[in-house]
Amino acid sequence: MIQFNTPVQSLARVGLKIASALNRLEIFTAADLLNHFPFRYDDFTKIVPIARLKSETVATVQGKIELIGSRRSFRKRMVVTEAAIRDDTGYLKIVWFNQPYLKKILKPGDDIMVSGKVSLQYGSPQMLSPSYEKIQAEQTHVGRIVPVYGVTEGITPKYFRSLIKQVLPLANKISEPLPGAIIKQEKLLFQSRAISAIHFPKTSQELDKAQYRLAFNELLRLQLESRQTKNLLKTSPASQITFQKEKTKKFVDQLPFQLTKAQKKSAWEIIKDLGSLHPMNRLLQGDVGSGKTVVAVLAMLNAHWNNFQAVFMAPTEILAEQHFQTITKLLGQNINLGLLTGSQSKTSQQPVISKQDLKDQLKQGKLPIVFGTHALIEQDVEFKSLGLVIIDEQHRFGVNQRQTLKDKSSKQNQAMPHFLSMTATPIPRTLALTLYSDLDISTIDELPKNRLPIITKLVPPDKRNETYGFIRKQIDKGFQIFIITALIDESDSLGIKAATKEHVRLSEQIFPDLNIGLLHGRLPGKTKEQIMRDFADNKFNILVSTAVVEVGVDIPNATVMVIEDAERFGLAQLHQFRGRVGRSKAQSYCFLFTESTGKNARLDTMTKITDGFAIAEADLKLRGPGELRRGKQSGLPDFAMSSLHDIELIKKTRDIARQILEQDPELTNSPLLKHSLSDTSIHWE
Ligand code: ADP
Ligand code: MG
Repeated sequence: MIQFNTPVQSLARVGLKIASALNRLEIFTAADLLNHFPFRYDDFTKIVPIARLKSETVATVQGKIELIGSRRSFRKRMVVTEAAIRDDTGYLKIVWFNQPYLKKILKPGDDIMVSGKVSLQYGSPQMLSPSYEKIQAEQTHVGRIVPVYGVTEGITPKYFRSLIKQVLPLANKISEPLPGAIIKQEKLLFQSRAISAIHFPKTSQELDKAQYRLAFNELLRLQLESRQTKNLLKTSPASQITFQKEKTKKFVDQLPFQLTKAQKKSAWEIIKDLGSLHPMNRLLQGDVGSGKTVVAVLAMLNAHWNNFQAVFMAPTEILAEQHFQTITKLLGQNINLGLLTGSQSKTSQQPVISKQDLKDQLKQGKLPIVFGTHALIEQDVEFKSLGLVIIDEQHRFGVNQRQTLKDKSSKQNQAMPHFLSMTATPIPRTLALTLYSDLDISTIDELPKNRLPIITKLVPPDKRNETYGFIRKQIDKGFQIFIITALIDESDSLGIKAATKEHVRLSEQIFPDLNIGLLHGRLPGKTKEQIMRDFADNKFNILVSTAVVEVGVDIPNATVMVIEDAERFGLAQLHQFRGRVGRSKAQSYCFLFTESTGKNARLDTMTKITDGFAIAEADLKLRGPGELRRGKQSGLPDFAMSSLHDIELIKKTRDIARQILEQDPELTNSPLLKHSLSDTSIHWE
């Protein structure tokens, strides 16, 4: 019997090789399989009589195999399998390429369904490489809405579907986290049914309902969490950090630049919060390059001047290190800073120090400020008196992260540290306020004056070479280039194939004399960090990367961002990519390569708008609510992210969260719901 915790290698037809490929997708158990949702669906529901097939449409045909045979095509050295399928109305020709085993599994006389695109050959209908399946009690691959999963090398989409089919009965055993009354009131699908239908929906209506239910879960979780946080903060005493006016002024005066008005305003909002009786819970939003770091530094300094420690967490090691270095430079030798990551420990006064010694210094209060990754809080770190926690590139902290940090903050002092999160992915203000009722928001809505806006251009196929010429000139001037690739097809869900192919093409055909690096998500974390470091050290002229290219990494020498198949990315993501350049005094460029010649509102917006907030607003308008829930833009489904735009649903879940907590503040009657909130991992939102 398959259980939730049954390891994948115990499932039928899963050998070592498949198991390790699954593990690479972070799928270890049957439950993980159930939680791996399709990223899109093929609608193969329309069964059409052969005589009525129309060219260039997607259809499903049900019939009998009349003939099937394979041959070798000599020009292309391929095995071609051809079959004729008959129904009551006519014959359909099928051609498959390089699947010689088909001849063994499909025999004349078999009843079969095929789904695919119809074309005409000499006036007769045919399908090239359609999906196929023998007639079963219930079809899996054809004749229905077929789920398409993000998979990995060594696993075909078809195989993956059968795996999911194997564990699907487990879905019936999923317990319902929501109170029955809410399910009824909101006419929601039960959780078990939603999970089952998200994989194998019977109808498109059922799929809609399943997606709605899952988006509902995510948003409700967010709303419950933010209400609980709000309550927690209201009842927690804070470390009081009083504004050190003279010292602050002196520090600001010696900065190599003048703070912008928006930076001053945000800093002041933060400083006021630090002095209050309850912990600050603030989000600092500001476009890439708007100068959030120095505002964070002002807060950390004030904490330090009040004898409190501060921690600054970044999403990756290289970013933590970069922050450590820039801020060490900014502060000079006056204050000792620490850096503690998985692979490094050092302080500005001791470039060589063991992790243990660094932790001892933190515990004794000898180290006022420490930088690390988000994992810092999971380590056995203790502070003498932690007063301020800053987390970069994240929207908010979870309740449990707060509790952990509070527990680490001090043995004597029962106060909860102040929290500041920072993000360069702005959410329109009204949306943010509805979504995060526990957060106060500061916004840096202007860039420092000396910045040149990044010149953004659409590049159609016939301008490609000219653009490569331009890129070469930039490289001749010593600048560096990012090239981002999109996914080519569904079998390339991580985009590795696309990036690798582009890397080969550029290295062999376009820039054979240059150093070109390659970065993608399959590389081990250490290798990825090393490649980014090498790029930062100018060891590559060009870095070809999938969308994994680290958020926030500062490579001021990079002046050109090229985005291949730009139409495949969402606006917010395009804007993030563009933010990787334009970080120095030199003029920077963003080239949106596109093969499609039609008008594209998103790409158009990119060329006209450079302000992140305006982009976010435009994004909201361009994406219709609901369409987003389907995760069409991002590739992999991220219900929370896509439903962010579904304001009606956000409002609804907010009201329901209130309703639930009023009746049951500790969620004692809904243990599963409570449990879903206690997930300590950091959620990227
Ligand atoms: P982000 O908001 O993306 O984190 P940073 O804090 O990294 O931006 O700032 C980007 C760059 O701008 C840094 O090199 C920083 O020193 C510089 N900077 C910050 N504030 C100003 C300012 N007011 N005037 C000029 N340059 C500034
Ligand atoms: Mg930053």
